[in-house]
Amino acid sequence: MTDSTTLSLASSLESVGETRAIIDLDAYAHNIGVLRASAPEGAAFMAVVKADAYGHGLVECGRTAQSIGCEWLGVARIVEALRLRDAGVDIPILVVGPPVSTELTAAIQRGVTLAAGSWSMVERIREAAKAAGATARVHIKVDVGMRRYGFLPEEISAAVQRLKAMPEIEIDGVFSHFSSADEPGAEPTGAQIALFSAAVAEVREAGIEPRWVHLANSAGIITGRVGPTNMVRSGAATYGLSPSPEVPCDERFQPVMSVRSVVARVSQAPLDCGVSYNCIYRTTADEMLATIPIGYADGLPRPLANQGWFVIGGQRRPIRGRVCMDQTIVGDADDVSEGDEVIIVGSNANGAMSFEDIGPMAATNNYEVATRLMARVPRIYMRNGEPVAVEHLLHDAAVRSVETARA
Ligand SMILES: *Cc1c(COP(=O)(O)O)cnc(C)c1O
Repeated sequence: MTDSTTLSLASSLESVGETRAIIDLDAYAHNIGVLRASAPEGAAFMAVVKADAYGHGLVECGRTAQSIGCEWLGVARIVEALRLRDAGVDIPILVVGPPVSTELTAAIQRGVTLAAGSWSMVERIREAAKAAGATARVHIKVDVGMRRYGFLPEEISAAVQRLKAMPEIEIDGVFSHFSSADEPGAEPTGAQIALFSAAVAEVREAGIEPRWVHLANSAGIITGRVGPTNMVRSGAATYGLSPSPEVPCDERFQPVMSVRSVVARVSQAPLDCGVSYNCIYRTTADEMLATIPIGYADGLPRPLANQGWFVIGGQRRPIRGRVCMDQTIVGDADDVSEGDEVIIVGSNANGAMSFEDIGPMAATNNYEVATRLMARVPRIYMRNGEPVAVEHLLHDAAVRSVETARA
């Protein structure tokens, strides 16, 4: 990291003056505690930190999960697992999806566990294990209904026989994934638990005692539908994100991220003044407007035009007109001054929009809004109310020439 980067990161630790995401690592640890208490007694916990920990920061969330005793981390891509290893995280990591990557050999060398869910993936894993000169530890993925990844229940028996005969592969677990656990009472969940139970029984009949058996996600844990298991996996609820409106994170959970910015300009607009691109908002009286440097290129969804709000000085300020790429304008800003602190996303307790509020306004869900927070928004990590680390993915991203990459 260059000196100038260090300097600008130090000034963002002062924590005013730019658009930033504040990540409360104590809230993250707290939520994991709540989920553990809801999981079956003695079950291990896999903290799912894929997709940059749903926008909350892969490395800091991974380190925190390790430090509070989570037994496993779950990621979606090999590169995420390798980044965690580079950051000193040494607990088991499962790549829960197909391990398509040019770095499969490195992953096996560094003890990353892989999901075996199709024969082409198993072949890649075997070749990489041979190249690594090591055995690849796998969890067999059973497809109980999503048609996404995994061996179908009727293939399990034969799959285990074939995998057992492969010296490059060690079977360490069996797992599956619910399609509809966020809809309480939805029929597929019971059927999926039954299919998974039968698949686990077949693995045992084939003479393999899997060390880890896991099925439930956040919604499964919250609704108490976990199936036969000695581990649960959770992503969304660890960040205080509700799996769905019907399966909310109740008051025991705390939001982990808040997004903040600063007022860059205040102006007084006359009656019938068009605001932002295409003037889709026109003032209905004299109105004070405030400009905030956050836009859809930071991850603020464009459909919040004329719908969302920010909190400034404890009051809601409605978004006026279109969300621009880099800036957004709010109204009702009579008592607002340039330089004031702005809450873009936060807790309903202080009047701010939560990710749960934003999802429906943007025709999507809370998970997508959080994971789309862009690399140019610095993350500031807090513990005991104090900043402990800063990460700016845009500052630290390296572009390598093809020659360097080949070397
Ligand atoms: C993303 C994912 C999870 C975590 O799901 P949440 O709903 O965020 O708890 C668990 N298991 C698998 C296989 C996943 O892909």
